[in-house]
Amino acid sequence: MNICVIGSGYVGLVTGSCFADLGNDVICVDNNKSKVAALKKGVIPIYEPGLEELVKRNVKEGRLSFTEHLKEGVKKSEVIFVCVPTPPKDNGDADMTYVEHVAKEIALSMPSYRLIVEKSTVPVNTGEWVEHTINVFNKRKIKFDVASNPEFLKEGSAIEDFMNPDRVVVGVKSKRAADILTELYKPLKAPMVVTDIKSAEIIKHASNSFLATKISFINSVANICDKVGADVVDVARGMGLDKRISKDFLSAGIGFGGSCFPKDLAAFVHIAEKTGYDFGILKEVQRVNKYQKRSVIKKIEELLWNLPKKTVGVLGLSFKPGTDDLREAPSIEIIEMLLKEGVRVKAFDPVAMVKAKELLGKGVTFCKDAHQVAKDSDCLLVVTEWNEFKELDFKKIKKLMRQPIIIDGRNIYDPKEMKKLGFKYIGIGRG
Ligand code: NAD
Repeated sequence: MNICVIGSGYVGLVTGSCFADLGNDVICVDNNKSKVAALKKGVIPIYEPGLEELVKRNVKEGRLSFTEHLKEGVKKSEVIFVCVPTPPKDNGDADMTYVEHVAKEIALSMPSYRLIVEKSTVPVNTGEWVEHTINVFNKRKIKFDVASNPEFLKEGSAIEDFMNPDRVVVGVKSKRAADILTELYKPLKAPMVVTDIKSAEIIKHASNSFLATKISFINSVANICDKVGADVVDVARGMGLDKRISKDFLSAGIGFGGSCFPKDLAAFVHIAEKTGYDFGILKEVQRVNKYQKRSVIKKIEELLWNLPKKTVGVLGLSFKPGTDDLREAPSIEIIEMLLKEGVRVKAFDPVAMVKAKELLGKGVTFCKDAHQVAKDSDCLLVVTEWNEFKELDFKKIKKLMRQPIIIDGRNIYDPKEMKKLGFKYIGIGRG
């Protein structure tokens, strides 16, 4: 099929290159000219494992191209995926101006039947607004369909997730739209949930909110474990082996971040409010997530006494391993709180350093590796569970540190081993 993907960020670029790899002709559109120029030169503006090779291969084989001109993409393609941002407004509501703008541009550019697919995460009823917007500008009364096809990929394993999804959700109003999307996704051999547009829109917000709830739930359990001397890792294992619960998203830590969970939770709370329903559970999930980050500062204070002029070494900055994405990363909020308390912060991340320097600026000493972070630090704080932090030379680290204290914000180390090595070790919910 001829496919146009509008918005070539984490979701759009992965979607476009995966569809190309499945044999479709894909044109990726982005209104950021420098991004398009870079992509045309084979430079991938984000870090996502395997993406560079995938893009290069499909460009070389003539199935994938890039443009900054939406009109060009819409003209060439029958199916149009909208993958633009839907960031949160101050009140938690999703900012839908990008989607509206694109809908208008599509209406003005489409020469014949087009299927416009929302892949961005959008509030329920967006499908109707997109249809309305297209109708307003579709003076030539060209036939079109709107569909919802929420994306469930995770940054860090985005290609694998896209190619092997647990399910593909498709919300449609017409058989024609259902047939096109079923055909397009057929090679993935994944279970398909074909439903109405509103239900598909809600599936995405409900799924992310549920996963965030699991995280805040286990974090609350961890806080009890801390008080009574139990180990949340064993508790989570004991719970997670029950298939009804499952072990996924049951790791206690300093809270979730990223561009999706916090924003989608806020949007779902807001959607509920608009309908007159108070989604109290989700507000509590948000509160627990905030608490987790603040409680790290409390732990550091308990360990280091007065904070001004103490040095904290931060290991990991991206919101999770496998990505350079710092949007809503817990590291940023925690580092800002530490700096406010007068703490000296040293930090290292395997891939997010460039973005972190832009965001955090001069207040932080950026290091070339974990050893440099450890040097003269009063405490090490693990924020992102990158694999390379799991196997450090702790004998060397201990010698380099001013005080051998580790706060393991992701529970990646064995408390007994750390204590044996001579560290004062504090995990999250590890007694
Ligand atoms: P992103 O910021 O990485 O990418 C969005 C891209 O859209 C940017 O490159 C931007 O330049 C471009 N853009 C903005 N306006 C445009 C326009 N008018 N025309 C063409 N391009 C335009 O965002 P993302 O992380 O890819 O997220 C996109 C959507 O997908 C959001 O709704 C998000 O919630 C959802 N989503 C994200 C993830 C994820 O893991 N990042 C997963 C599932 C769903």
